[in-house]
Amino acid sequence: MLANGQTIIQLVERLAPKSLAMEWDKIGLQVGTLQKPVQKVMTALDVNEEVVEEAIQKGVSLIIAHHPVIFRPLKHLRTDLPAGRLLAKLLAHDIAVYSMHTNLDVANGGLNDWLAEELELQQTEILDVTYQDELKKLVTFVPKSHREQVFQAMANAGAGHIGQYSHCSFQIEGTGTFLPLEGTTPFIGEQGKVEHVDEVRIETVIKSSQQASVIKAMKAAHPYDEVAYDIYPLDLPPFTLGLGRIGKLAEPMTLEEYAQFVKRKLGLEGVRIVGSKDRLVKKVAVLGGSGGSYLLKAAFRGADVMVTGDVGYHEAQDAFVEGLSIIDAGHNIEKIMKPRLASFIQEKLQEQKYKTEVIASEVHTDPFQYL
Ligand SMILES: [Zn+2]
Repeated sequence: MLANGQTIIQLVERLAPKSLAMEWDKIGLQVGTLQKPVQKVMTALDVNEEVVEEAIQKGVSLIIAHHPVIFRPLKHLRTDLPAGRLLAKLLAHDIAVYSMHTNLDVANGGLNDWLAEELELQQTEILDVTYQDELKKLVTFVPKSHREQVFQAMANAGAGHIGQYSHCSFQIEGTGTFLPLEGTTPFIGEQGKVEHVDEVRIETVIKSSQQASVIKAMKAAHPYDEVAYDIYPLDLPPFTLGLGRIGKLAEPMTLEEYAQFVKRKLGLEGVRIVGSKDRLVKKVAVLGGSGGSYLLKAAFRGADVMVTGDVGYHEAQDAFVEGLSIIDAGHNIEKIMKPRLASFIQEKLQEQKYKTEVIASEVHTDPFQYL
């Protein structure tokens, strides 16, 4: 069976929820419809003429792009101009475009994590926090027979995540009591009689943003008509997400060695560097896209070098004064999202036995060339 456009988007939004995007960003479905079965999906960094041609040739009906195809408000839809012609071509071939931009940058396991992984950063932290979610404790009481069912439903809705661990909970057995009053149809016991039941107390951690959905899932899986549960505020640091990553190298390298390493790992034709080639690099910050305005943050956090793109002359000078080296690897390093996102989607679709094919665009959309 082929997956519907909507089904595919639900999968990617679990990786990078729209709510993580910056306020100014333009994300989500931009062209076409998701209400149709999709034979082939293609991931792309940019949507330009060549990418649309590629999609047509390869029979793609949904493009998931990093950069929005419509960013500034449209003033017209003129097919005698390149931007209008591009949109007209997409519509004529019934190709939908969905953009996941800063939400993919910020996402846990998204673009900046892919870059940090590729550049072999360890003990990685977020460079600039853009999103915080308070943690809470959720406690519920379940008859022993339904312990697994209820806990699985809660965990699947996102409860019990601590660091890189899911399904975290503490469960203890005890006795629950209740007296069904008039008008009830109790799952256990009878009206007017105090009941003692072997129950399990399940306690787990939830993020505030997930509270409604976890409780809904818990109630749906719970056999009781009145589900008893408590929610406690926690005095713990919030769950955070953000732009860029900062981490350490397993072995220090010189700036020159590391720049060569970056070039090789990210498949680049060239990089620009700021700083002495012999300087030792131990701590590295990385931010896909235009990272010029995050250089001082990286310096403040103790990075020896920042790997990013689109760094301006004066930004580079300011960073240099602060003792930060730069590897300007171009905006094109974000192309890492093409294969990574494609394999993420393919894997998730296969788990659900969908036959939809996922490919990564092979078009090189970087306008810059190196001589
Ligand atoms: Zn970008």
